[in-house]
Amino acid sequence: DSLGRWFSVAEARVTLPGSSHVTLQSALDITKRKINEQEFEEQTSKMENSSRLITLGEMASTITHEINQPLTAITAYANTALEVIDRAPEVNKTQVLEIYRKIANQAARIDKIIKNIRAFAKRRPTTLECVSLNSVFSDTMELGRLIEKKYAGVHVVYELPAVVPDVICDPVQIMQILMNLIRNAAEAILEHGSEDKTIMVSAKVGAKDVELSVGDHGPGISDTMKASLFTPFFSTKKNGLGLGLSTCQTIAESHNSRLRVRDNEGGGTVFFFDLKICFTKDSENKKQN
Ligand code: ADP
Repeated sequence: DSLGRWFSVAEARVTLPGSSHVTLQSALDITKRKINEQEFEEQTSKMENSSRLITLGEMASTITHEINQPLTAITAYANTALEVIDRAPEVNKTQVLEIYRKIANQAARIDKIIKNIRAFAKRRPTTLECVSLNSVFSDTMELGRLIEKKYAGVHVVYELPAVVPDVICDPVQIMQILMNLIRNAAEAILEHGSEDKTIMVSAKVGAKDVELSVGDHGPGISDTMKASLFTPFFSTKKNGLGLGLSTCQTIAESHNSRLRVRDNEGGGTVFFFDLKICFTKDSENKKQN
């Protein structure tokens, strides 16, 4: 700190003839490398931002179309309401209320589209830290309960090993990935009318990584569709915007991973990605205790 430089320090204990010990210490100045790494990270984050904006630019006509549809509907409904109020000798309250309800729904749809696009364009920077996977899971469970309420019949099950290591991640963003995947699974299950409505959220611990996965027994995804899944605005849903999976992919990439998809055993789909295990002295101590 006092020098304002970075050093990589190594130490070795050597036994000299006559059994006396000395400690050899070497310090390698790695300041330049550290500065390069920081610059590289800044550049990558800038590139990520501009590539997201370029994607949005390329998608301008799709976005215009998405917003134009509800806007045209709002204009049509508003004109009908005007006619009904203007022409009929007595206003039919039920009919007018129904028209206004439709207008409100379409306006809410535009609001949702704009919010999603804004979130996609302005993703906050990733802050990687060493966090307990247990805490990420317990926060996800809270939100998972909301999904179970919204998508009646769907059941989210969590499968965690007895000892869970700390992982390097941005916990809010990892929750965002898991929630998106759980919501997609719930929608696929209900749309398909699957008998098995269980969604499995699992963590598998490897030597250096933990694989997180969300699996369902929904309709599954064909190989042709798999190729387009992560492209922004790809959606098969009537009201889908198709930004969920591409946002999840960008987040996984900023964790040095990739979001991948495989067929689930017995039908359905599994989405999965990895997080690096955090090997600090602290987590080593925790493991030993
Ligand atoms: P959206 O949910 O707005 O359609 P996404 O990017 O989240 O956007 O998903 C893109 C498409 O991927 C969905 O429209 C759907 O066709 C498909 N998909 C995602 N998850 C699943 C799943 N678990 N099972 C089947 N299809 C899925």
